[in-house]
Amino acid sequence: MDVTRRFLCNLCTKLTLSMPLWMHAGIARAMQKNVHPTSAAMSPRNIDPSHLIVIDPGHGGRDPGCIGAGQVFEKDIVLDTARDLHYALRRAGYRTMMTRDSDTFVPLQDRVDFAERHRAALLISVHANAIIGRPDIRGASVYTFSPTPSDPLAAEIARSENSVEVLSNPFFKGISPEARQILFDLMDRNTKIESIVAQKAMVDSLARNVDMLANPARRATFAVLQSKAIPSILVETAFLSNPADEAALRTPAFRHRLSLSMKDAVDAWFETRQHALDNI
Ligand SMILES: [Zn+2]
Repeated sequence: MDVTRRFLCNLCTKLTLSMPLWMHAGIARAMQKNVHPTSAAMSPRNIDPSHLIVIDPGHGGRDPGCIGAGQVFEKDIVLDTARDLHYALRRAGYRTMMTRDSDTFVPLQDRVDFAERHRAALLISVHANAIIGRPDIRGASVYTFSPTPSDPLAAEIARSENSVEVLSNPFFKGISPEARQILFDLMDRNTKIESIVAQKAMVDSLARNVDMLANPARRATFAVLQSKAIPSILVETAFLSNPADEAALRTPAFRHRLSLSMKDAVDAWFETRQHALDNI
C-alpha cells in the first residue's frame, strides 16, 4: 500500500463531508481489493439506487428569473422541465430529488447544501436565460463553475442568474490542517473533473436534439455550482429573449425533448464514470 493510499485509509473514516461517489469507491478499493462488485453490474440499465441525481429548477417564488417577451416566466418553465427530467430519470431507475417542486423561493446556498446533505452523485440546475437587446441569440448551453468566466457572454449570464464572489468553505472535522488541505484539494480537483465530464455528456446529448448556442460548453461563477464535493452543472435550456426559443419552451413536446436529452446525458456520464472506476 503506497503512502497516499495509507494516508487516505487512515483518514477516510473521519470525513464528515459528502464526497463524490467515485472517491468513496476509489478509497474503498484502495483499502480492500474486490470490496465492490465488478462493474458489469453497473450499467445505465441497471442502476445503483444510491446514485442520487439532485435536480434544481432555477429561481421560484418572489424570484421569477428571466421573463420572455410573451410573458413566459423562467421559474415556471424550468420547473416543468425539471419535473419532466425527474420522471424520465425515475423511469430509467435513478433516484432523484428536487430542490423545489413548487413555486417557492429557495436560497442558492440552500440548494448547494441540499445536494451535499443528501450526498448527490450529480447536481443538475435547470434554467433558461435572456440577453436584453439580443433577440438573435438562441440555443442551449451548459455551464460548470469557475471563478474566471470563459467569455464575456458567460460572465453576463452568470451575473443575471445568480453570480457570487464569496464561496462556501466545506471542512473536514477532526483532522489536522495539513491533511484537511490535501483532502480538500483532492476532492475539489476530482469534483471539477467529474463536472467537466458531465458537461461534455450534456452538451453532446443536447446537441443531438435541440439548437445549441455557439461554444455551448462554458464556465462562470454560478453560486449554485460552487460545491467542492458534488459534481454540478447548469443547463441553460434556451433564450427567452429569442422568440423562436420562447415559443419552443412553451410547448410540452420541446420540454420533453430537453428532459430526455438530459436523461441520456446522465446515462452517458455514469457510463464514462464507471469505465474510469474500472480502471482504477
Ligand atoms: Zn435562471
